Amino acid sequence: MTQKEMFNGDETTRIRPPYLASPVYTTEGGVHYFKEPSVALVARPQVDLEAIRPFLESFPEEHGFTDYLSDPDYIPDAEAATKFAGQLCYMSLGPRRTKNANADRYFRNINESGHGSVYEHSNFSFLFWGVSRSLTHELVRHRAGFAFSQVSQRYVSGSLLRFCMRPEFQGDPELEESFFDDIENQYDFYHQTRERWETVLKTRLTPEVQKALGRSGLRKMMNQVARNSLPNCTEAPIYVTMNTRALRHFLNMRGSEFAETEIRALALKVCELVRIHVPNIFQDVSEKKLPDGSFGLNLQFPKV
Ligand SMILES: Cc1cc2nc3c(=O)[nH]c(=O)nc-3n(C[C@H](O)[C@H](O)[C@H](O)COP(=O)(O)OP(=O)(O)OC[C@H]3O[C@@H](n4cnc5c(N)ncnc54)[C@H](O)[C@@H]3O)c2cc1C
Repeated sequence: MTQKEMFNGDETTRIRPPYLASPVYTTEGGVHYFKEPSVALVARPQVDLEAIRPFLESFPEEHGFTDYLSDPDYIPDAEAATKFAGQLCYMSLGPRRTKNANADRYFRNINESGHGSVYEHSNFSFLFWGVSRSLTHELVRHRAGFAFSQVSQRYVSGSLLRFCMRPEFQGDPELEESFFDDIENQYDFYHQTRERWETVLKTRLTPEVQKALGRSGLRKMMNQVARNSLPNCTEAPIYVTMNTRALRHFLNMRGSEFAETEIRALALKVCELVRIHVPNIFQDVSEKKLPDGSFGLNLQFPKV
């Protein structure tokens, strides 16, 4: 199998699907919950270096810049985009440039010298599900290089409510049982509150106002009240795009031993997926065993 097939073609999909999906469980009372986060790598860069041909050809032939397009070795598109951005800075485009075969050395230099701005040229989009509202509250604190779209608790029906069991609860029958009781009660309370509030609301609003609000306006008014006491462990699916520099920062902060355990578990899965697709850029990231026996991440160059 060629390197390109390994990363891109059907072979990859067969060998390593672009997701790490965890099962959904159901309590005896019929409420759905998760024990682990799930991650899908939905989008990653696609690069067409042919597009730079006219630029390369616009220089005198003696520079040999078109050689840039005949590198025999494949590197993943995110790395190709980043490497071109970096090499453009010094016009290292001719035959003496660092070739793809030495991409690991190229990216090690970037990491060592801290010139991480070139990592901002590639983006990765993930769907996270089986993650709690408390996890996503921490996640959305990241600003530079992140974009978020999250399931609306106001718009979406309560019939889709699911919950996340904390890692610490797992394996202890008492904590697990109290979690099941809790989420079943929360589920019932949500629906009872919504039902009661719907009755009250309809007596408070005139038919004209109800018509003006429309079905979705009314639904939001009901759900925003019903969700009032939903717990932190309510599932909150979120679609997140990060550029590679932001992604490295996320892995550093959230893979750390000081990070909250659920978000650390997510960071480990994100890392596992991206290392398949951009191994050179993440070459300095490794898993480390923490004093409590769980795992975290270590970045040799945390601030690039
Ligand atoms: C273990 C842990 C504990 C935490 N505890 C708390 C807590 O108790 N309370 C709390 O409120 N938060 C807490 N946080 C969240 C933390 O303070 C950050 O808000 C979050 O981690 C995002 O990090 P960031 O700001 O570095 O990242 P990003 O927002 O992704 O920014 C990346 C980098 O860009 C630069 N940058 C971004 N925005 C600006 C700006 N406006 N000005 C200048 N530079 C900028 C900074 O160098 C920053 O590190 C905690 C985080 C962790 C990992």
